[in-house]
Amino acid sequence: MFRYKSLFILFISAFIFSCSDPDEANKGKEPGIDKTANLKGLGDSASQLLSDNEFTSLNIEIVYVTGYAPSQKTLSNFKKFLEARTYKPDGINISLRAVSSSNKSPFDIEEIVAIEKDTRTVYNAGDEIAVYIYVTDGKSEKDKENQFTLGSAYRNTSMVIFGETIEKFAARPNAPTKSDIEAAVFNHEFGHLFGLVDIGTEPQSNHLDEDNAGHCNISGCLMEASIEFGSGIIDEIEGGRVPKLDAHCIKDLQAAGGK
Ligand SMILES: [Zn+2]
Ligand SMILES: [Zn+2]
Repeated sequence: MFRYKSLFILFISAFIFSCSDPDEANKGKEPGIDKTANLKGLGDSASQLLSDNEFTSLNIEIVYVTGYAPSQKTLSNFKKFLEARTYKPDGINISLRAVSSSNKSPFDIEEIVAIEKDTRTVYNAGDEIAVYIYVTDGKSEKDKENQFTLGSAYRNTSMVIFGETIEKFAARPNAPTKSDIEAAVFNHEFGHLFGLVDIGTEPQSNHLDEDNAGHCNISGCLMEASIEFGSGIIDEIEGGRVPKLDAHCIKDLQAAGGK
């Protein structure tokens, strides 16, 4: 196991730092499928996701561990969020598929990357850009006693939602409903794929949270770090209202080609 992980990390670093090497680039390819465009860094496809310059449709594959399917309410909120921010005249398609547990919780990101490699079936094709979302039956290895990771965006078109952690969080007294937390986390992590804040998308104003890289310092904004870690989520989701992007984050997306 240890050996496998080390090898895997080596492979990833080699890939990131020498993608101009044709031998390395070919490692991302299987006959008929070119995966290289989907193996880039977080924020690298922000404009491609937002605008219709290169890609006119968005194809999202959600792979969830049996029992952790996102609710219909979550999915409809998520789709509305994406439609409000992107130019995709040929539509946004969301497909769902159940898989069995990997039994690897708690997860580090290398384990999630390995699961993606095994379960992802949708990659960029023609004028369609593809995104992979994995919903786990377990928690992040980074969880601490008072800080839980609800989701994580880790590559240009890849993110993970910690389904079990969201479920436990929703079971606390006075917590928001599970689908409101879930929708907030789906939208927040996708905000990172959109390059927020200052991850591939240039901020148009000074709203970067100096203490939490990639997050917004405007109170109540969807991209506040507390959404990802759950700490402030009870205050922020009152009366079934899922947090929205504030004007600063929206301006950043518009400057990068979004709505
Ligand atoms: Zn975040
Ligand atoms: Zn913001």
